[in-house]
Amino acid sequence: MDQPQAQERIQTLRPLLSEWGYAYYVLDDPKVSDAVYDQHYQELKALEAQFPDLITSDSPTQRVGNRPLERFSTVTHRIPLYSLENAFSNEDLTTWEERLIKLAGDDLEFVCELKIDGSANALSYREGLFIQGTTRGDGVQGEEITQNLRTIHAIPLKLQGTDLPPELEVRGEVFLPRDEFARINQERLATGEKLFANPRNACAGTLRQLDSRVVAARKLDFFAYTAHFSKATTQWEVLNQLEAFGFGVNPNRKLCKTLTEVHAFCHYWAEARHQLPYETDGVVIKVNALSTQEELGFTSKFPRWAIAFKYPPEEAATLVRSIEIQVGRTGALTPVAELQPILISGSTVSRATLHNQDRIQELDVRAGDTVVVRKAGEIIPEILRVIPELRPEGTVTYEFPRTCPECQTPVVRTPGEAVTRCPNPQCPASIRGHLIHWCDALDIEGMGEKLIAQLVAIQAVQSVADIYSLTLLQLQKLERMGEKSAVKVIEQIQRSIEQPWGRVLYGLGIRHIGSSISTELARAFPSAESLSQATPEAINNLYGFGEETAQAIVAWFQATENRVLLERLRSYGFLLANQKNQQPASTVLAGKTFVLTGTLPSLSREECTVLIESHGGKVTSSVSSRTSYLVAGEKAGSKLTKAEQLGVPILTEDQLYRLLTISS
Ligand code: NAD
Repeated sequence: MDQPQAQERIQTLRPLLSEWGYAYYVLDDPKVSDAVYDQHYQELKALEAQFPDLITSDSPTQRVGNRPLERFSTVTHRIPLYSLENAFSNEDLTTWEERLIKLAGDDLEFVCELKIDGSANALSYREGLFIQGTTRGDGVQGEEITQNLRTIHAIPLKLQGTDLPPELEVRGEVFLPRDEFARINQERLATGEKLFANPRNACAGTLRQLDSRVVAARKLDFFAYTAHFSKATTQWEVLNQLEAFGFGVNPNRKLCKTLTEVHAFCHYWAEARHQLPYETDGVVIKVNALSTQEELGFTSKFPRWAIAFKYPPEEAATLVRSIEIQVGRTGALTPVAELQPILISGSTVSRATLHNQDRIQELDVRAGDTVVVRKAGEIIPEILRVIPELRPEGTVTYEFPRTCPECQTPVVRTPGEAVTRCPNPQCPASIRGHLIHWCDALDIEGMGEKLIAQLVAIQAVQSVADIYSLTLLQLQKLERMGEKSAVKVIEQIQRSIEQPWGRVLYGLGIRHIGSSISTELARAFPSAESLSQATPEAINNLYGFGEETAQAIVAWFQATENRVLLERLRSYGFLLANQKNQQPASTVLAGKTFVLTGTLPSLSREECTVLIESHGGKVTSSVSSRTSYLVAGEKAGSKLTKAEQLGVPILTEDQLYRLLTISS
């Protein structure tokens, strides 16, 4: 980027960040998430670092917080309340340590404290008595809110102990526990008041209430983290002394001798913090020796001796390059945003679902827009909102297609449904979708999306039954297909004929019939024959699958083309029924319900399901209080959190095997 381009971008970012900062710091009503604010703030900081001539004193990078509201009397802080420099990775922490070593030598110890997401406040004590409390405000001046702070039990009105300093200034974080936040918002919902965006803003808003009775009714809490008194020589002692004075001090702290220990602390709390009853957004790392802190001093905004390690956000802003339509196996048209690739939650995201036509309209998302994308746990990335201030000129409203982009058949949308569909059963996209699903379900290795697309394009395969009439010669003629690979594919296809009835049923792709429902159905209806004769009531009554599912099954078996398909599959050797000798290996897991999450070291999901079922257990898709065990592998997501919350026992693959051997 050259200087004029940087100048232009800076001129867009500054007013935007000022506006967001005002809404956040002064009105306690943020317009965007912290992650999105930070992303744009970092962009501005990087541009200013590249072109220092463009820095102005009113840039949001040059100030802490925002000016206080005039509702309360204003107090000038004796020592400013600084902001903290941010670190977003281990490398950032290493760079910070290198700088410290250069400035103060390598005899360093660190104190790690959780970064509580609340509001910073300064408390003054004289002869052990609480006399004044102020908000951070813009760091130089804050609002005097003594009465409100008096309502918080973790703030002592009188210090404990005997040898008290005549004057003491304590700093710490006032915060609102999650439960209390939920309760307040519930109350506001009932009275029709605007909901608080998050606990941090609810806390800041509460502290600025003119009526301290309102504050008292909301159970704010407090953790002290800094004080100035002559006797302490380290931050660690300060924290212990604050505790002795009677302040709430966060117990989750650690004195670290090396940066490796600091990394480990940050790593541990990345997950563990979700179990805490209050919100945290990182870890604050401070140099332990107060003499070294003094030596290092401050920049105009930050102490040099402290840094905030921020956890990777689950959302970020990026550019929409285009909006494309995907046609699925059911003919559903799904709009997908092609994005400028961006790192979110540790992985690169370059596409995000826009769900359907209504969602596009609701968001008014257009090619060229900057959007906020979220990726949390195992969820597919999705677009949360557009940032209208960053919309370039000349964008146009997205027009949802009226015909299928694959086969040009006019699309249909049933009234009351959100999905728009291509009604053409011969649509190549839908055919490909069916084939991909079948090959996945029956585990046909080598039949990937590319090969299937080629086979459909040359019309060698139109339905799943056609797969079984493919010849070696046909495959060998395809692009990038040697004889060896062709033989392998044919072998895999042949082997799939032996797959159990439950997998075949899943592969048929009947609407609403996922993998676990198929297994359950196959157990109750041991053949295609028996299932095709079942009434919707019989299916519905069995597991409470629901009306729609039962109807979908019955309708599928009634359609002539599906009966033909089953006949053809039979002619290729499919049994379409449970094997006679398919006895369960044992029944040690009978009555137990399992849920699987994450990647297991050796078993695939399917294999693990088969293993559990062959021992009489049941596998379901979501965690509830009735779940007996969660089997969790690497990158386990929200199911793990839910299981932990509900106290559902969690097993590794090894522990699952142990359970089988112990029980049998
Ligand atoms: P900061 O919140 O990143 O860090 C400084 C603050 O950390 C301190 O003031 C204190 O309140 C807090 N803290 C918590 N635990 C602490 C501990 N143990 N020791 C020391 N301090 C501790 O910095 P900031 O200047 O207050 O705010 C900048 C942040 O505010 C941004 O990173 C952004 O996330 C957020 N912000 C968001 C918006 C928005 O629109 N969403 C707008 C402006 C700012």
